[in-house]
Amino acid sequence: MIKNLRLLLLGAPGSGKGTQTSRLLEKIQITPVSSGDLLRTEISKKSSLGLLASKIIQKGGLVPDHLMIALIYREFQARNWLGQDCSWLLDGFPRTQNQAVALDDKLTVAPINCVIELDVPEKVILERIENRYIHIPSGRIYNQQYNPPKVPGKDDITGEPLSKRPDDNAEVFKRRLDNYHKEIDPLKEYFKNKGILHSIRGETSDIIFPQLYEYITSEFTSK
Ligand code: ATP
Ligand code: MG
Repeated sequence: MIKNLRLLLLGAPGSGKGTQTSRLLEKIQITPVSSGDLLRTEISKKSSLGLLASKIIQKGGLVPDHLMIALIYREFQARNWLGQDCSWLLDGFPRTQNQAVALDDKLTVAPINCVIELDVPEKVILERIENRYIHIPSGRIYNQQYNPPKVPGKDDITGEPLSKRPDDNAEVFKRRLDNYHKEIDPLKEYFKNKGILHSIRGETSDIIFPQLYEYITSEFTSK
């Protein structure tokens, strides 16, 4: 059994964080939180944060750190995750060094203890994005080529319609990638200095997943 794994998946947009998350959930017990999914929920609810985030996301920008930190902290409090003995998986947060420091300041008892970078060549990422569809309520991701839904255009579990993310178009995607490259080095450095950063390079999710799984089980299995 996996115990006390508090994992952050890092990787460029389209590197497969959501896909790896789904695959991990089939094998281990861990609760995922994706900052992008939380923001998309706020957008569906038309909350004031959602309205602001929607404008920023459409342009491929980053939501200000203080708003992201408050959103994630609220989620952690609601799930009772501030104490010991919890396992969770973060995707998309922290995405800047400021966010990482702020989160560590709040999670003094049980901070992130494993960071895995999905290192996927950029040309692969660009091809993927064009074929990507998402089930917004759950964050489940499909790809017309690699991971098609059982029924075209419908989520496998709920049968609800899939959508194309409005920020998955060439122009906005380029800005998202640029922003990623601006923030990633200091963020990686921060986790490297803590001794918890591990990178996995590969072109497909099928190549990356076994390595990810092997690493996690070798480091966090308790008998
Ligand atoms: P992908 O989902 O393809 O891996 P991504 O990680 O860039 O790409 P999401 O995590 O879904 O996409 O985030 C969508 C958008 O939400 C981002 O482009 C950004 O505008 C905003 N966002 C998400 N997380 C954060 C964060 N931690 N800080 C600031 N903005 C964020
Ligand atoms: Mg994502």
